Amino acid sequence: MAHDADRSPLRCTGLSAAAEALRSARRVLVVFAHPDDVDFGAGGTVAALTRRGAEVSYLVLTDGDAGGFEDEGRESIVETRREEQRRAAGLAGVSRVEFAGERDGFLEPSHRVIERVVAAMREIRPDVVLSLHPERNWSSLHKSHPDHLACGEIVTRAAFPAVENAYAYPSLRERGLEAYRLPWLLLFAGPDALVNLRVDVTETLDAKLEALDVHLSQHPDPEGMRESVKAGLAAQAASGRWDEGPEDRPAEFAEEFHAVCVNGEGTFAGF
Ligand SMILES: [Zn+2]
Repeated sequence: MAHDADRSPLRCTGLSAAAEALRSARRVLVVFAHPDDVDFGAGGTVAALTRRGAEVSYLVLTDGDAGGFEDEGRESIVETRREEQRRAAGLAGVSRVEFAGERDGFLEPSHRVIERVVAAMREIRPDVVLSLHPERNWSSLHKSHPDHLACGEIVTRAAFPAVENAYAYPSLRERGLEAYRLPWLLLFAGPDALVNLRVDVTETLDAKLEALDVHLSQHPDPEGMRESVKAGLAAQAASGRWDEGPEDRPAEFAEEFHAVCVNGEGTFAGF
């Protein structure tokens, strides 16, 4: 649940301007390919943001209709996964979840989907957009599902130039969705070498695991999944230098991002 008064610290290490943008973010949009992607990649960060009073919205691009491991219940898999994502979002303090309805496994950076993402960005006008990375992580191909790469490409193309170009996708302006300059893009599940921001999720680990548990249709081995997620977050925390801030203590668990400043003080606007 979101509670406005909670200003619990959001500890980060890495790019300090990105850390500051995350700490001060009031509106955040998360765009991902399948129901559950956000909970694996950024669930602890989202829970920390909503606890600090940020409004977080989800846009899920595909239906996740190729997910799961059981022949049973295939006819209702789309609704099952939507319901799982809505419940997981509720646990993370996220109240707005939208589904773009693309087919699982077939996501491409088409103008139709890019326009859908631009519309969401112009409507929400987020301080930060979180999404999957468009580049492959060769040490974990499972993080780099083709739909994840397509999602990253869609969001990156939407972030520049389309969202800030008033003449891109003219029908959006006719609907009252004016151009908007996005400050920050934080991408997860990308190549290890591009990580430049780590978020301490030690305090929101339980919330992350609770949200992950909700995606029952996707976990043949829930206990194994939890252990593997915790081990991954611990390894990510161990690879950061947690010597920033007054407390000067290491993080136990961390989520990693490639933070990209789309529009900062020195950005020269041009198309
Ligand atoms: Zn996925």
